Amino acid sequence: MTTDQMTALRFNGINDVTLAEEPRSLPRDGESVIEPLAVGVCGTDAHIVAGHFEAAPGVVLGHEVCARVVEIMGDSDGIAVGDLVTVEPHDYCTRCSYCRAGREHLCDSKRGYGVKLDGGMATRMVVPTRILYRLPDDTPPWIGALAEPVACCIHAMDQLDAISGESILIYGCGPAGAILVSLARLSGLTPIVVVEPSARRRELALRMGAHVALDPGDEADMQRLESIVEHRGYRRVVDAVGSGRIVEQSVAAAGRGARIMVFGVSKPGDFAQISPRDIFQKELSIVGSVINPYTHQRAVAMLGELRLDRLNAAFFSLDRFSEALEAQAAGVADKVFITPMSP
Ligand SMILES: [Zn+2]
Ligand SMILES: [Zn+2]
Repeated sequence: MTTDQMTALRFNGINDVTLAEEPRSLPRDGESVIEPLAVGVCGTDAHIVAGHFEAAPGVVLGHEVCARVVEIMGDSDGIAVGDLVTVEPHDYCTRCSYCRAGREHLCDSKRGYGVKLDGGMATRMVVPTRILYRLPDDTPPWIGALAEPVACCIHAMDQLDAISGESILIYGCGPAGAILVSLARLSGLTPIVVVEPSARRRELALRMGAHVALDPGDEADMQRLESIVEHRGYRRVVDAVGSGRIVEQSVAAAGRGARIMVFGVSKPGDFAQISPRDIFQKELSIVGSVINPYTHQRAVAMLGELRLDRLNAAFFSLDRFSEALEAQAAGVADKVFITPMSP
């Protein structure tokens, strides 16, 4: 590979992802060139490849990026060549009614890097310098790449209006569920209860700080779910799975005055059957949480506090992306990463 070339993993259509050498992309004024060292494989990437989440055909995948800065064009915004950085992977129009009201994440024409704009699964990525956040130089790149999901989880905790000393029930302990457990612990929520069918992920929940991890297939565990909070229901409930069935269970498990947060990405056409009478009588709030508005800097600040090194990581080179997706689906590790710069 000459320096005029780069290697990029492009999504062409459903189940059609190709790795190719191509002319390298060049920065314009205000942009930087970065070399991605670790890129998280996210549930969203699997949804994109399967056709369940809309992405631009031809786009380079990868929105959880940790990289080294190699070139800066124009204003450096406090970033220097050689810096280890993470990317806040969104572009907002800045002009719509949401952007003008400080709610950019709800922008009419928001575009995500790795979804609509070229992402990090390449040997080179060009981004506006202003969306780069410097990381301590000794940060392991895979931990740096987790700044993006951590930022999404911080927004989720904000949406949840989590209050210390109150109970929280989290359905699902994939990577996001694990980060939410860690944030709940730091926020002082107690008890932290996780419901998760996989034994490996229940162990992960406990490693991250959950007080109890229960198996939804075990009747005794499901009785415990209610008795832990003295049959009063939970004050905060999170769907970190993304399914109508889980939302139904969340409403059932919620106590009076509870707040339920839908965080997982459910499949199109999936619905929940919930009773308006429950919402009324228990005075429930059901909220969503989408991406990471103004939380990336907070994520970087918290990165070292979240026990992220307790996640088992698996690494794959760019040419092994399909293996990485399979590993993610099979749950061979807690979190799977692509390492574009290592063959
Ligand atoms: Zn993601
Ligand atoms: Zn906008």
